[in-house]
Amino acid sequence: MPNKSNIEVRRDFIVPTRISIISRVRKFRPKDFTHEEAIKRKRATCPFCPGNELMTPPATLVAKIEHGEIKYYRDRDNKRVSNWFVRIFPNKYPALITALPPPTYGYHEVIVETPDHYVEPYLTSVHNYALVLKVAIRRINEISKDPQINHIILIKNYGPRSGASLEHPHMQLFATSFTLPYILEEILYSNSYFKEKGTCPYCVLIREELKSPRLVYENRSFIVVVARAPRTPYETWILPKRHSPSLIDLDDQEIIDLADALQKPLEILYKHLGNPSYNLWFHMAPKAISELSSINYHWHIEIAPVLTTWGGFERGGGVYIIPVSPEEAAMDMKKYLSLIK
Ligand SMILES: [Zn+2]
Ligand SMILES: [Zn+2]
Ligand SMILES: [Zn+2]
Repeated sequence: MPNKSNIEVRRDFIVPTRISIISRVRKFRPKDFTHEEAIKRKRATCPFCPGNELMTPPATLVAKIEHGEIKYYRDRDNKRVSNWFVRIFPNKYPALITALPPPTYGYHEVIVETPDHYVEPYLTSVHNYALVLKVAIRRINEISKDPQINHIILIKNYGPRSGASLEHPHMQLFATSFTLPYILEEILYSNSYFKEKGTCPYCVLIREELKSPRLVYENRSFIVVVARAPRTPYETWILPKRHSPSLIDLDDQEIIDLADALQKPLEILYKHLGNPSYNLWFHMAPKAISELSSINYHWHIEIAPVLTTWGGFERGGGVYIIPVSPEEAAMDMKKYLSLIK
């Protein structure tokens, strides 16, 4: 017989049409689901590895460290810049291209995060990871100056169940002429919340989550929390404490704080939760959407580990059954952080 206290329907705080059912009817251990798919990295001919740059289109941005500082370059024609630490180039199989008019007009680029095929930069040091994020933000800034671009999303697919086709550490960036539907939904709700209460719902959420058992980690600029109504077990959000529609105005200290905050859940996934596949995405405001104010939007990151498989209720109904409560997931993640301190 199901125990009544083990089942609870929850709505997302920002988008109340998103519903999760926390159903702790079975004991859920992330490692049970992931041990068979732990990533075995083997390097065949990897187009993202140093020396193979000619296997990719010319880079739109290459970052090198020279005399202790980041220097930026671009590939020209058949020449490739070498000795890079981050390399950004158009996807060889693009979903969007600048050679066609909107709505197909856009950028689909790959951000190779490190020349090291085997090690994710967030597992090296916060300093290294901050440099990677700094280069990605610079490219986002460049693309956002294109007047035909309205919206940019930065994503990472990690592992075989995430949709990633190559294992070399990388992210992808999509820049579109249209507004991305999930973010539009968040903006619509943010705007109506603002109209009603005179404040941003994410700013309210941050104040509440700072006192909640879902808080995993906090530094000067960011909080890390398990989502109240997650779509996957251990779904984690990184929320900037400073209200801003986009990350393009982060200063150097905030970028270091971002690397520090983002590194925590990713290290926990890798070292504590059995190295599962995951998707992560940066939700930022589009440039403009008719009368709606993008200013009221609060940028953030969502991380969704692939620990269960969605069935018809999830895909067809938009209701997510979650076998571990967000509060238990947060406690588990905090336990790991306290052990490594
Ligand atoms: Zn490689
Ligand atoms: Zn806000
Ligand atoms: Zn979001």
